[in-house]
Amino acid sequence: MSELEIRDALLQRGERLFSAPPALVIFAKHVEADKLLNALDRLPHAFVIGCIMDQQIQAEQAWMIPFRVSELLGSFSIERLAELSHEDIRRLMAGPPRLHFYFDRMSDFFYSAIGRIMEVYSGDASRIWSERPSSAEVVYRFLEFDGVGPKLATMGANILARDFKIPMSDYTSIDISVDRHVRRVFGRLRLCPQDADVLRIIYKARALNPEFPGLLDYPAFELGRELCKERRPLCADCYMRPYCPSAAEYGAVNP
Ligand code: SF4
Repeated sequence: MSELEIRDALLQRGERLFSAPPALVIFAKHVEADKLLNALDRLPHAFVIGCIMDQQIQAEQAWMIPFRVSELLGSFSIERLAELSHEDIRRLMAGPPRLHFYFDRMSDFFYSAIGRIMEVYSGDASRIWSERPSSAEVVYRFLEFDGVGPKLATMGANILARDFKIPMSDYTSIDISVDRHVRRVFGRLRLCPQDADVLRIIYKARALNPEFPGLLDYPAFELGRELCKERRPLCADCYMRPYCPSAAEYGAVNP
């Protein structure tokens, strides 16, 4: 199978998600926590802070943090958060229960994010993505937050475009956010060598779909998490099986 056939099969899945009507986006797998993260019209900073917390621990646990803080404070309004000192936030994060394994560093990022949203966006984080900005502008605005690197910044922009249907003037700067699932799937589909570094995988996605490289992100991530598992890939159930150069190898193990 050619690389273009593989790309097209992945893009088909990506485009289905991109054009699907808006629905509650599942982050924490906890109804109330997810409702808070989806409240872009009232509490857009919850999504931004959730993104910033989503590092070095299990994603669901990280996305729970805005909700846990709102429970402890009785509110997640930006005004209430802005009243907290750096030490207040550190205490909330330290617990018990501890909200993040790296609670010290995450408290710094949390505190500084609130300050930035207040100072630069007048307390309204939705200004990060309002008025149909370019994708580069949205990624850049995420990168300006302490603790946010390219992976988180493109993840945030991708979720806004794909799941929240936030209009942007283009999608060219939304790269894939490489994690172990995306890396494994790109390797097994032979889009990149199994040991390719992050930059190589990012550039491969750019080469495959320059108008919106990040459209390949969720299909690859979802495949890796649900089907193309590290030890026992479920090739028999995989929609990529007809195109996948590794299917013969793994399919023989899991017919
Ligand atoms: S066919 Fe098998 S090896 Fe190929 S992507 Fe699907 S699960 Fe992975």
